Parts: sequence; structure tokens; C-alpha cells
Amino acid sequence: MSERTRHVAIVGCGQLAQMMAQEGQALGISFSFLAEEGENTRCVEGLGVLVNLKDHESGEALYRALGCPQVITAEREQVDVGLLRNLQQFCAVYPDPHVFEKAQHRLREKLALTESGLPVAPFLPALGADELWRALNTLGYPAFIKSCENGYDGKNQWRVKNQAQLEEAIEEAQSHPCVVEAAVDFSCEVSLVGVRSVSGEVKTYPLTENYHRQGTLLVSKAPFHNSHLMEQARAYLDKLMSDWSYVGALTLECFVTTEGLIVNEIAPRVHNSGHWTLVGADTSQFANHLRAILDMPLGDTECPSPTAMINMLGVNKSPSQKNEGVWLYGKSLREGRKMGHIILVDDCVHKLSQRSDAVIAELYA
Ligand code: AMP
Repeated sequence: MSERTRHVAIVGCGQLAQMMAQEGQALGISFSFLAEEGENTRCVEGLGVLVNLKDHESGEALYRALGCPQVITAEREQVDVGLLRNLQQFCAVYPDPHVFEKAQHRLREKLALTESGLPVAPFLPALGADELWRALNTLGYPAFIKSCENGYDGKNQWRVKNQAQLEEAIEEAQSHPCVVEAAVDFSCEVSLVGVRSVSGEVKTYPLTENYHRQGTLLVSKAPFHNSHLMEQARAYLDKLMSDWSYVGALTLECFVTTEGLIVNEIAPRVHNSGHWTLVGADTSQFANHLRAILDMPLGDTECPSPTAMINMLGVNKSPSQKNEGVWLYGKSLREGRKMGHIILVDDCVHKLSQRSDAVIAELYA
């Protein structure tokens, strides 16, 4: 396959698709994007062909409208698995749809993680008020009630510390199939982004520490120096990748506890906590995801200097402080919305923290 003929279709039109295409163009890859009805496509305008799902009835017509891609991938886990299976008749779909089926449903995800031997918080499935009461009685307080579907960035999720809070949460939670999870006592949250190519080559970025603001990622810092936890995370990611014959980027989000890592969730895609790789690593997570799904040799994933990524949540002004890159996604401003991110690199971890705090103070003043 010559570089020129590489064509990838991405399901989704947000900032992850945008950055994938921007990074992919430098590799000579062309793109098309599949938009669901009503999906905002501003992020990917000018980066490739835009195709509306509703305009094409058969899988074949859709495949043709997408420009007969070598590979179809996705920027989110909430995708129509049936549609992906249909499209698989015409070209490769990476990651495989069975992975999306797991990742888009919290119970299936937890069961799959457990099946591969990864440690997760004690959990119980619950549907309706009675089962929620029973689950909380068994697991104890505090706990998290999480809707099995459509939960991200802390949405459709209730933290309950006592019976009064449970009664309140039940009002909303009882109509959804849920997973109830014991609260994990953790010192910090980390994530690991890894990539596995069609040929089975695997590379992982260093462990990254993540800080959240109201359930949404605010800052990621890499590398998180703990060789034991790094080894543990890498072993978990390797296990999932080989159990699932995985192809593409896979992200593992974990809690750091006194007993080691507890896996919170996975994302079968490039991840917000990996945006720092755009500057801090030789090959970004976006470029490596594309390399993996097109079976090209994977690029270097080392992080030679401490790097931080700060999300611009509901703000889109560039900071006045020195930085190593500002990405603005071109979205219209909305409260809490991910509008862009800033990357800082510094030889000294302490200075990096100070600079990152100053940027946050300015952005959210
Ligand atoms: P999630 O939607 O599962 O990513 O959860 C959002 C955030 O809620 C996480 O980043 C944690 O800070 C917190 N959280 C979720 N589940 C738990 C848990 N079982 N124990 C403690 N904190 C949790």
C-alpha cells in the first residue's frame, strides 16, 4: 500500500477525530468522517469528506460514500455496534466492534475486565429501587451508582454517602440499569495509553497522572514515576490487548491504592489524558493509533521531559504564560465544554507544576 492510497474513515466528528486527522495528514493519510443525525461537525470541517449517516441506507452505500476506506475507526465508544459489524463486510474496523460493545456498557465492561483477571472495585448490577437498596446494603457506604449506559465525565452517576443520599439518587437512578460500585480509597488517578498494531507490535506511553474538576479531566501530567505501578499497568493493558486481539489505541484508567492499581474503566480509543503526547512524545497517540490500524511500524512513546496538559473547560482564551502549544478545537463556547487544551514541557517537575498552576489560575480566574 503506498502512502498516498491510505484512507481512513472515522466515526464521529469531535476534537479526537480532528486531532487524528491533523496528525494523519502528516503521514499522507486522507480522511472521511461519519456524522450521526444532528452531530456538530465543526471540529472536522476542511479535514476530509463529511458523510451523514441518515443519507445512506445500506452498509455498502455508506462504505462507498466514506470513500472506500482501508480502515474504519471511531473517536468514541458510543457507536452503533451493528453498523460497524455491517461495515466490517467491506473493510477492516479497528478496534473490533466487540470491544465497543463492552466499553459502552459499564456492566459488560466490568465483567470483561474481571474475566481478564484485572482488579476492579467490588461491584453489583442493580435495576430498580429494591436492587439498588440491596446492592448498597451489601457493598456499604460510600459507593457510586453508575448508569450502565451513557455515562461519561461523571454524568449519570451518583456518589452516595448515606441512606438519605441513596433515597435521593434512587429517584433518578431507578429507571436505568446500573452498576453499584464500592468507593475506592485512592491517593491519585492515573491512566495508561497503549497501542497495538495489526501485526501485534505493542507500545505504551508512560503512566500519566490525572486531576479532575467536577468529574471532568482538568490536568494530566507525565511521566508518573513509579516503576512498579507502570509495570502493573502495562501488564494489565497487555493482557486486555491479547485477550481481545486488540488493534489501535487503548486507554486504561486506574486508581492508585496502597494495594496497587484498581482499574476504573477503559476507553478503546485515543484519550484526553494522552493529549500531552502531541508535544511530549516523539510520536503522538493520534499518529500511533493510525499507524497501528494501518499496520505501519509504531513510533516512539518515550516522554523525555516532564509534560503537562491542561484542558480548557468552558474557556477559550490563550494563556499569557509561556507554553509549548495551545490547541483550540473551534467549538462554540458552552459551560464546562472541552474547548481546547494547553501543553507545557519543563525539565523540572517542580517548575512544571508551578507553571501549570499559574495557567489554571489565569484560565479559571
Ligand atoms: P467515571 O465516570 O467512572 O470515570 O468516574 C468519574 C470520577 O469519579 C473518577 O475519575 C473518580 O474520581 C470518581 N470515581 C468513580 N468511581 C469511583 C470509585 N469506585 N471510587 C472512588 N472514586 C470513583
